[in-house]
Amino acid sequence: MTISSIKQQRLSHAVQSIKPSGIRRFFDMASTMENVISLGVGEPDFVTPWNVREASISSMERGFTAYTANAGLPELRYEISTYLYEQFSTPYDPEAEIIVTAGASEAIDIAIRSLVNPGEEVIVIEPSFVSYAPVISLAGGVPVPIGTKKKNGFKLTKEELEQAVTPKTKAVMLCFPNNPTGTVMNREELAAVAEVVEEQDLLVLSDEIYAELSYDEKHYSFSRLQGMRDRTVLISGFSKAFAMTGWRLGYVCAPPDITAAMLKIHQYTMMCASTPAQFGALEALQHGREDVDRMVTSYRQRRNFIVKAFSEIGLSCHLPGGAFYAFPSIEQTGMSSEAYAENLLKEERVAVVPGNVFGAGGEGHVRCSYATSMDSLQLAVEKMGAFIERNK
Ligand code: PLP
Repeated sequence: MTISSIKQQRLSHAVQSIKPSGIRRFFDMASTMENVISLGVGEPDFVTPWNVREASISSMERGFTAYTANAGLPELRYEISTYLYEQFSTPYDPEAEIIVTAGASEAIDIAIRSLVNPGEEVIVIEPSFVSYAPVISLAGGVPVPIGTKKKNGFKLTKEELEQAVTPKTKAVMLCFPNNPTGTVMNREELAAVAEVVEEQDLLVLSDEIYAELSYDEKHYSFSRLQGMRDRTVLISGFSKAFAMTGWRLGYVCAPPDITAAMLKIHQYTMMCASTPAQFGALEALQHGREDVDRMVTSYRQRRNFIVKAFSEIGLSCHLPGGAFYAFPSIEQTGMSSEAYAENLLKEERVAVVPGNVFGAGGEGHVRCSYATSMDSLQLAVEKMGAFIERNK
């Protein structure tokens, strides 16, 4: 027996079955190079507004350094409840239906582990955020991808969902506005999906972390649809809209029975989310909404710029309705998305993420985050244009 096979034996089968994130490989490569313009990172380029940082600092100065309630500070849950109702018309009871988590990442994990039994299938709408399928596998579930299509603007259709459902299907994982495509789905489009959910008696995990970053129409929350509230786990957080990625703060809302189940896992694995971060989030919800509007206006301008600029250099790109990603097609270059991203990085020092790392339907595209300065965006597009010319 080799040393590596002996070492492998000590690891769980579950962890051996999942692969490290494909995004990391590109970051690692880019980090060894100088003067790279990065369109790779999935986080805001804004620093968290000062009043939020100050509220957190002040909470520590005042000595609030102990654990909070497992589900989170009661006043923060109350503010989350008010905020969700005012912004998205989604009423959730702060006592029984909301848990404050260590980022939306933890929310995804405890939601999946609360609902999925070994062997049960969870449909994942791809291209998607990279954590869903591995977290489902770690819970013993089976991720079943649906690759959405460019011709449908990467929206999920009723027919696609109907075809993917089997007797083992337990739930569907949705994410709109989407990472990496930026696609949004409106009320009518979601209602068509909800019909299948109802007919097939499914649950829905709806990751709406980019809800505030919707540029053309107001975000419509899946749980607002008739009959869907009792079937939906709503996942969100402060990372994106409030520019708080490093704070690690999110939340999850669900009917009381599912919330109680998630709380059991949360209390044993996390105890509670970070106390100073919760005080910051409280301030963000109470006094930070104008800052969110300001950031959204800036992302919208950058989205409009990059989509137009891509079309001028011959990259076809649908108009992303939300989040801060453009997902242009690179098919005409004849390269795979991995080869395109690698060559672009080496030759032009521009980092983008190959679409294939986001699962089915992602090949032939690259994800470009426009949460970076206008100057960097301008330069990146010029360089991408030169790269296309050279590789014609
Ligand atoms: N969900 C989606 C769709 C994301 O894009 C991300 C982060 O990129 C997350 C969840 C994780 O967010 P958090 O920082 O709150 O853990």
